[in-house]
Amino acid sequence: MKKLLLTVSLLLFCGLLQAQQPQHTEYVFLITWDGMRWQEVFTGADPQLIAHPDYVSDTAQLKELFWRNTPEERRKTLLPFFWEVIARKGQLYGNRQEGSLVNVTNVHWFSYPGYNEILSGYGDERIDSNEKKLNPNQTVLEFVNNQPAFKGKVAAFGSWDVFPYIIHEERSGIPVNAGYDTATDTRLTDMEKALNTLQPLLPGHWSSVRMDAFTHYYAWEYLKKKTPSLIYIAYGETDDFAHDGSYEQYMKSAYRTDQFIQELWNWVQSQKKYKDKTTFIITTDHGRGTEPLDTWRSHGDEVKGADEIWMAVIGPDTPTMQAVSTQGQYYQNQVAATIAAFLGLEYRPEHETGAVLKQAFK
Ligand SMILES: [Zn+2]
Repeated sequence: MKKLLLTVSLLLFCGLLQAQQPQHTEYVFLITWDGMRWQEVFTGADPQLIAHPDYVSDTAQLKELFWRNTPEERRKTLLPFFWEVIARKGQLYGNRQEGSLVNVTNVHWFSYPGYNEILSGYGDERIDSNEKKLNPNQTVLEFVNNQPAFKGKVAAFGSWDVFPYIIHEERSGIPVNAGYDTATDTRLTDMEKALNTLQPLLPGHWSSVRMDAFTHYYAWEYLKKKTPSLIYIAYGETDDFAHDGSYEQYMKSAYRTDQFIQELWNWVQSQKKYKDKTTFIITTDHGRGTEPLDTWRSHGDEVKGADEIWMAVIGPDTPTMQAVSTQGQYYQNQVAATIAAFLGLEYRPEHETGAVLKQAFK
């Protein structure tokens, strides 16, 4: 009996040690990539689309850039940072061909419902349009910003001009630079001045979504100056190029976004403050169709497969996907609680949320 007690208490003690293992993450980058399909993330260029005359004007060039003989080579060519760095040092979720499934839980399968689900942790049926309506739900960004230790240390940058409403900029107190916003700080860097000059001079390709390069460099300048604890960067081009029906622009934009994320990661790992203390969580608001073929351009609840998404995690507390399997079923509503958990917080909003992504922690 004594032996048994000793064993039990030893086990309890070890359990306690495990639960209290210190986390290294102090900073979180949430990055979204509007309407990027899991099909391209995990298999690269689509053989049915890359030479399709309706969707590609210069097939020779696009093939030279992104066509390779195997899906493994194609994905690495399209997204080198994902496949050479995240796949080796972090985790990718959503490879449906290998039994890793990620779905949205909202019933609408388009942007605002998806961003609300990512940010609030709740697939809210009431969020049923992309209109500029203030989000009734508190987001995890607002929750974190309301914690004394994180007050004023949260910021958001987006290409789409609806983000100030999704994040409820006024109520949350989180600065949101989105759409065609410029940098308005009292002390502007040379880069911010250049971006502010150029952005209104370039022909706007879409009225409500700017080119991602502006979002990216505005965010980066802010990072250098203010070093926030939690930053949200929302790239938007891929979705709009897909709606335009341009597979070549969709692919080229996907490649650039991977490079942007790599640039941020390399910078983070070169900064004493952020190095080995920063976790990136990367995901998308919705999927797109595959069958019939032209549904790749679109999404929404009538498009088969538009609820299928993917996620990526890399950081000092996340085991590699070689060490911990990412097979199983996961949901978009798990992102918010997971962000809070990386910051050592328990996200408890008024509504129900998805569970913390346990596999993403050592
Ligand atoms: Zn869309």
